[in-house]
Amino acid sequence: MKHVIAIDIGGTKTIGAIINENGELLDSIRIPTNPKLGPENLMKSLFEIIEQLRVTKEIDCIARGSAGRINTDTGEVFFASDNIPGWTGVKIKEIVESKFKIKTVVDNDCKVTGLGEEWKGSAIGKKSYVCIALGTGIGAAVKLNGELIHGCHWSAGELGHMTLYPNGRQCNCGLKGCFEQYCSGTALVKIFNEKSENKISTGYEFFDLVKDKNEIASLVLDNFIDDLVIAILSLSNIYDPEVFILGGGLIDTKCYWWDKMIDKIEKSPLTSLFVPSIVPATLGSKAAIYGAAYLGFKELNGDD
Ligand SMILES: [Zn+2]
Repeated sequence: MKHVIAIDIGGTKTIGAIINENGELLDSIRIPTNPKLGPENLMKSLFEIIEQLRVTKEIDCIARGSAGRINTDTGEVFFASDNIPGWTGVKIKEIVESKFKIKTVVDNDCKVTGLGEEWKGSAIGKKSYVCIALGTGIGAAVKLNGELIHGCHWSAGELGHMTLYPNGRQCNCGLKGCFEQYCSGTALVKIFNEKSENKISTGYEFFDLVKDKNEIASLVLDNFIDDLVIAILSLSNIYDPEVFILGGGLIDTKCYWWDKMIDKIEKSPLTSLFVPSIVPATLGSKAAIYGAAYLGFKELNGDD
C-alpha cells in the first residue's frame, strides 16, 4: 500500500502526518512555527517533520498545502503576501525533492482544504463545489466539472480578493473593498474596534461579546452576514456549483450566524431560479492534512 506524508504549515504550527491510500492516518506530529521568521525557518520545520515521519514507513510522496498562490506545475510560490515575508518565489517542490529524493506536490492551502472535504468531508462525490475558508483571511477552492481551477496566473479562486465594495476598506493585496476585509475573523475584530471604545484583539473576544448581546458586536455581525450573503449570491451566479462548503476558523461560531445567513439567502430573488446549497465544512483543521494526502495520491495515480 502507498503512503504519503501530508503537511500543513499554519500560522502558529506545522502539522505533518502519514496517511495511507485508505485514508487512514497512521502517525502525526506537530511543531510550533512562526512564518514571520522567514522562509528558511519554515523550510527547516518542514525538513524536521519529514525526517521524523519517514523513518516509520516507506514514503511514496510528500504533499503539502502552502499559503500563497502556488504554481502547481513547478511547485513554486507564485505570490505570497507579507503575512509570510520572503515566501514569494520559494521553489518548495525542487528544494524538498532534491533533499529527500521523494516525489513532492504542492498546492495552495485553501485549495488543499477543499480536496480534503471532497475526500473525507462535506463534498464527497461532488464534481462542482466552492469551498470557502473564513479564517484570518479568506481563501477558497473552486472545482468545476471535476477540475480544481487554478487560472493562468495561479490566482483563480482567490475569492477573498473579490471586490465587495468599490472604494471600500483597504486590503493588504493593494485593492480596496475586498471580501476578506468584511468577512474574515480579522475583519470582524478590526471593524468592531473602529466602532467601539472597548478594544479587543481576538475573534474569541468578539464572539464572547456577541454571546453577551453586546450591541456593537451584534451590529458588526449582522453586517458580516449581509456581506457574506452578497458574496455567496454573486458566486452562485458566477459558478453555480452543486454545493458551497463554508469552513475556516469562523465555522466554529456558526451558531451565531448560520441560520440568519440561510434565511437571507432563501429570501433572495435569486431563489426564484434556484436555491444554492450551502453546508458547513466537517473536517475542521484536519481538512488540509487529508486534502494534501489526496493530492499526493492523485499525483501517484496519475489523476489530474
Ligand atoms: Zn484584497
